[in-house]
Amino acid sequence: MKRKLIDLIEPFKIKVIEPVRLVSEERRKQAIKEAGYNTFLLLSEDVFIDLLTDSGTSAMSDNQWAGMMLGDEAYAGSKNFYHLEKAIQDVLGYKYVTPTHQGRGAEHLMSQALISEGQIVPRNMYFTTSKLHVNIAGGVMPDVIIDEAHDPENEFEFKGNVDLLKLQKVIDENGPEKIAYVNVEMNVNMAGGQPVSMANLRAVKKLCDQYKIKVIFDATRSSENAYFIKTREKEYADVPIIDILNEMMSYSDGCIYSSKKDCLVNIGGFLATHDKEIFEKTRSMVVVYEGLHTYGGMAGRDMEAVARGLRESTQVSYLKYRTNQVKLLGDLLIEGGVPIVRPPGGHAIFLNALKFLPHLTREQWPAQTLSAAIYEASGVRSMERGAISKGRDKDGNNIFPNLELVRLTIPRRVYTNTHIEYAAECIIDLYKRRHEIPGLKMVFEPEYLRFFQATFEQLPL
Ligand SMILES: *Cc1c(COP(=O)(O)O)cnc(C)c1O
Repeated sequence: MKRKLIDLIEPFKIKVIEPVRLVSEERRKQAIKEAGYNTFLLLSEDVFIDLLTDSGTSAMSDNQWAGMMLGDEAYAGSKNFYHLEKAIQDVLGYKYVTPTHQGRGAEHLMSQALISEGQIVPRNMYFTTSKLHVNIAGGVMPDVIIDEAHDPENEFEFKGNVDLLKLQKVIDENGPEKIAYVNVEMNVNMAGGQPVSMANLRAVKKLCDQYKIKVIFDATRSSENAYFIKTREKEYADVPIIDILNEMMSYSDGCIYSSKKDCLVNIGGFLATHDKEIFEKTRSMVVVYEGLHTYGGMAGRDMEAVARGLRESTQVSYLKYRTNQVKLLGDLLIEGGVPIVRPPGGHAIFLNALKFLPHLTREQWPAQTLSAAIYEASGVRSMERGAISKGRDKDGNNIFPNLELVRLTIPRRVYTNTHIEYAAECIIDLYKRRHEIPGLKMVFEPEYLRFFQATFEQLPL
């Protein structure tokens, strides 16, 4: 595959650096053992290249740092809130904005405001915190993503799409009044960072309108999704990202948003809506759980950084570099014969652990095992996205999803393409000696979101 440097070139130069260090192989062996083979429990100091998550790990621009100095830390009416509100109105087109400390704060408010006991929230695949908040509010979350999303090798360009027939079936079987809202995620994280097409968003809204069902987006990665719409949906090739985003959001009643991803900041989130009633409800709740409705758990300076970052996230030069860096990692791994979810997604490359470690059973947690082995081999930190993340069903049995994946998530504007090449090289080497990797046994399991804190021991090979 021929790569052109003009497609990979960073649209910035580096002004501040943070040293990183590769600790010895001996230390890495010990560190991962001490962490119970859970990469979430490693010390950041022991990590060389951190591909655990793209959440809150971005490098801010000089423009954002300048904004940090303009923080108005008034308890009420901070001018940075109004900058944030205006940025969201301009970029996403929502009229009403409620800030929260991060995405799950917004998920909490939205779930509590719109879901009553026994209601249903269909979604294009689940996300961990989103599903938990729906469950806590008394709802359930059936999966209505297209089948292609569950097949790691299917190359369909919009694997995040909602399957309209599956959605229709959920509506027919339960009745529209049982549906609290339909939840559509942009660039679906758990499916591999796969986008939703504009045509699909339009069709979902049309179907829901027939039944007066609300549509709420998880718009967390909407800028990256908009770029895929621009490059893959012909009629949008010449449309500015900001116009694409405005049209996308017009097909919803509101959204929750974790600013820690596309907004290029370290903390923040918000809920935004076209609907005055949703706004009033969540605005009265935000003061209980997050903070006053003009800061919602964020410092003034942080709101300023989000406002500026959201605007920066719509620059085509940035989005092109961003998605092509992710694709570079994917292409290098594919060329090395490593099984990954295809096509490469927007924020991460996902390794297919069932194919990487076919000698392990599902109960030996192939994805957990692989993420620990990658750290030991290279100092690169990844994370499990499979059965450990999925958790247990209501009878307490482990659920084993089709996708048993390891996520290599690329922080925004942080690593150079040399870092990416190093990570690919080490994983390709490990793939060549994959049969020497022993499985794991879970020895500690916390009650909620077990992937964060569960610990494991190595089984004999
Ligand atoms: C990160 C994320 C969330 C939760 O946001 P936090 O800021 O981590 O609380 C919700 N949905 C998606 C799709 C996410 O990636």
